[in-house]
Amino acid sequence: MTTESTLTPCRSLTDLEATPRKKRYCPFCGGLLDLRFVEGRDRLYCEACASPLYENPVPASCVVVVDDQERLLLVKRNVSPKVGMWCLPGGFMELFESPEEAAVRELQEEAGIAGRIECLLGVITNPNPDYSTVLLMGYLVRHWIGTPVAGDDADEASFFPLDALPEIAFRSHQHFIRNYLLTRTTSDPERV
Ligand SMILES: [Zn+2]
Repeated sequence: MTTESTLTPCRSLTDLEATPRKKRYCPFCGGLLDLRFVEGRDRLYCEACASPLYENPVPASCVVVVDDQERLLLVKRNVSPKVGMWCLPGGFMELFESPEEAAVRELQEEAGIAGRIECLLGVITNPNPDYSTVLLMGYLVRHWIGTPVAGDDADEASFFPLDALPEIAFRSHQHFIRNYLLTRTTSDPERV
């Protein structure tokens, strides 16, 4: 599937200014971290370990879930950031978990339903104040069972008509919703 995701830049100057939280201590030895130019960029560096601390994006998964009336499932956040705003169910991957496993687990935890991944809607990077960069995978779920009920990190879980969505908290989630709409308009309606 061709989407704009591969062309979406991760960061702007404004985004960089919004990433103030930095690691100060080495997670291996507890020594104070320095900043040193290593392998083409400034990196955190531990003198005691004589090693740079390589930092990488933190992966997370989220889901575009639709019902048989093609309404979209959203959860209302009760945790920072964007408390009180609506977003897709999703969250950070755990160790030794696949992106798909993370997606269905988060769906169960946040919205109380068991879903089956149908396809990948896109992969996108986003600036994040705690983790600098988050790598997000978005998946489509059209087959699920249960009754949506708000769980972890959410006050409400509700379906919304596609033409009456509330403001979505995250640009990345808006991106996956747009990709779903593109898939929908270019798909054969008899396909399912
Ligand atoms: Zn160290």
